[in-house]
Amino acid sequence: MKKLADLINATDVGELLEYIHAMVALVERDGSLVSWNRAFETYKSNYPYASNLQNCFSSKERDRITNRLDLNQPDPFVVEIDDGSEGKSVFYDCVILPLANGHSLFIGEHISSNASMQEIIQRLNRRIRMFQVESEHAKKIARNKQTEVDGIMVQAHELSNTDVLTFLPNRRMIVKTLQDEVARAERYSAPLSISVVDVDHFKRVNDTHGHMAGDEVLRHVAFQLRDHIRHPDVVGRYGGEEFLILLPNTASEEAAEQAARLCRYVRESQVNVDQHSLNLTVSIGVAQYQPGVDTWDSLLNRADNAMYEAKNNGRDQWYVAK
Ligand code: GH3
Ligand code: MG
Ligand code: MG
Repeated sequence: MKKLADLINATDVGELLEYIHAMVALVERDGSLVSWNRAFETYKSNYPYASNLQNCFSSKERDRITNRLDLNQPDPFVVEIDDGSEGKSVFYDCVILPLANGHSLFIGEHISSNASMQEIIQRLNRRIRMFQVESEHAKKIARNKQTEVDGIMVQAHELSNTDVLTFLPNRRMIVKTLQDEVARAERYSAPLSISVVDVDHFKRVNDTHGHMAGDEVLRHVAFQLRDHIRHPDVVGRYGGEEFLILLPNTASEEAAEQAARLCRYVRESQVNVDQHSLNLTVSIGVAQYQPGVDTWDSLLNRADNAMYEAKNNGRDQWYVAK
C-alpha cells in the first residue's frame, strides 16, 4: 500500500491539519509557538497571552511537555486539562513530532474522560438488564402459550377419538386399540377375546319414539356396558347401535360369562324416553383371538358373525365363535 503522505502534497496536508478536530501546533524546539490550527486556536483562547506550548497548559503539565520537547522523538503521552466545570477534567492524547526543519509538531486529540465512559457503560448495562427482563417476559408468554397449545392439542386428540353421543372411544379409536391388542397378544402369546354387542330391534325405538329417544337409548346402553366391564377391558362405539368390547388376557369362556352378565344388566335396566319406560335387550357375539390364524379384522368378522348367530337364535343372548 502506498503511504498516505506520498499521495497528498504539503499544501493539502496543511489544509487538512487546519480543519481536523485534533489540536495541531507548529513549535520551535523550545516550545515557542509558530503556527496552529483552528482547534488549537479555540483551546488557546483560555491562554491568550501564552507564547509557547508549555504555557498553554496548567502548571502540573508544563514540565511534562518540556520533557517531551527535549526528548526529540514522537512518544505519545496524555495531558489532563481542566475543562472549566467544577472538578471535571478532560484528557488529551498528545504527541510531539520533531520535524526535519528544526520545528516540532504538537498534536493533541481529545479522549473521553473516565467519568463519561463510566456513564456509557452504566447506560449500556441498564439497557442490557432491560433486554433481559423483556426477554424473560417474552419467554414466559411463550411458555404460557405453549401450555395453552398443548392443552388444546390434548383436547383435540381426545375429541377426535371420542364418540360425541356416548363419550366412549369412537370407531377409529376402538379399532386402533384392537389392532394394538392383537399385536400384543401375538407378541406375548397372551389370550385375547372380543365381544360385538348389538341392540335388539333398535330401529323400532327410532320409529316409535323418534330419533332423540333412540339417542337416549344408545347413551343408556353405552353407560350400562361401560359400568359393567372391568379393567383392563375397554368398550367403544363401533357403529350406529353396535359396540365393541376388548378383553385382554381373557379366554372366550370368561368373555362369555361377561356377555351373559351384560345381557342380564341391559335386560333388567329400564330407560325412560318420551314418557315411556322401555325395556331393551342386546345380542352379543364373542370370539377369541387365534394366534397365527387371525388378523384383527378376521377376529372382528368372527365376533360379528357370532353376534348374528345370537340374533338368529332369538336375540337377548350371546354366542361364542367356534
Ligand atoms: P336387530 O335386532 O336385527 O339389530 O335390528 P335393529 O333394528 O336393531 O337393526 P337395524 O340395523 O335394522 O337398525 C339399526 C338402526 O339404528 C338404523 C339406524 O337408523 C339406527 N341408528 C344408527 N345410528 C344411530 C344413532 O346415532 N342414533 C339413532 N337414534 N339411531 C341410529
Ligand atoms: Mg346393527
Ligand atoms: Mg340392532
